[in-house]
Amino acid sequence: MDYTKNDKIEEAFKIIKSSQKILIFTGAGISVESGIPVFRGKGGLYETVDPHIFDIEYFYNNTLENWKMILKYIIFPLGSAKPNAAHLAITELQKKDKCDAIITQNIDGLHHKAGSKNIFEFHGTINYANCIRCNEKYDYHYILNNFTSIKFDNISDYSSLLSSLNKGEVDRILEELKVPECKKCNGILKPSIVYFGEQIDKQVLEGSFYYAQSCDCLIIIGTSGVVYPAALIPQMAKSNKARIIEINTEESEYSKSFADVFIKEKASIALSKLVNLF
Ligand code: NAD
Repeated sequence: MDYTKNDKIEEAFKIIKSSQKILIFTGAGISVESGIPVFRGKGGLYETVDPHIFDIEYFYNNTLENWKMILKYIIFPLGSAKPNAAHLAITELQKKDKCDAIITQNIDGLHHKAGSKNIFEFHGTINYANCIRCNEKYDYHYILNNFTSIKFDNISDYSSLLSSLNKGEVDRILEELKVPECKKCNGILKPSIVYFGEQIDKQVLEGSFYYAQSCDCLIIIGTSGVVYPAALIPQMAKSNKARIIEINTEESEYSKSFADVFIKEKASIALSKLVNLF
């Protein structure tokens, strides 16, 4: 069984080695080993929270309540997570000139934390909020320092800030928070994640489609491939005759007919083995 998996990794290695323009496309599965569960299915977020927290109408109609839920269930837990061996292996592949770009559906910012470059965050990021009027970007130091009574000036980075919060501070933040506003135009701030009913950022969409249409190898990692328009990325690459490698613990939309090589394995294990072959 393990021998077969190693064979597949060897096969994937040969494809990557002979490719010139390699694109990586990731989904929730790559971050499972960082302790972030998938949203759907057993143990997922949607067992605790209704998906309407990501609905743009809900945000506009219940802004303060939405902010508190997003902080509690998304920003705090995802923001304190650390990249795992899979994210780090991708950074290594980039250093070896074997990954031109990463398109991620994840909002957790872990590819950035792993030191990767040229990342398209298709569904936005938890790392910022932006003004719905003038689009100015703000980090969570600004929001927590200005819209709660807690001051966090002595902590340098956002992840350390979120990791350092104790339960009392989290409860206080959720109790005290006021709707965050832009200091330039007083517009309301919204987490920079793409809500249901919102458009994908134009530059991210164009950049992603450019790489999808011009790559000669696509590595799909930990995505079920059911969320659109993100799911168009593999289809575009396939139409461009790119060779497709898939890493997933389960069969997905792509595994049977679509992928040239399907590695049924945890992302961290498969990618660590793969990068070690270079
Ligand atoms: P999905 O939940 O639909 O599918 C996850 C896939 O990952 C499944 O096919 C599963 O078999 C696979 N998987 C699980 N553990 C794995 C592992 N250790 N190694 C490799 N594969 C593994 O996720 P999706 O396709 O990304 O779509 C869900 C949407 O929800 C996306 O838009 C995504 O942005 C969002 N989401 C984001 C996060 C995050 O930012 N970390 C987490 C959950 C959901």
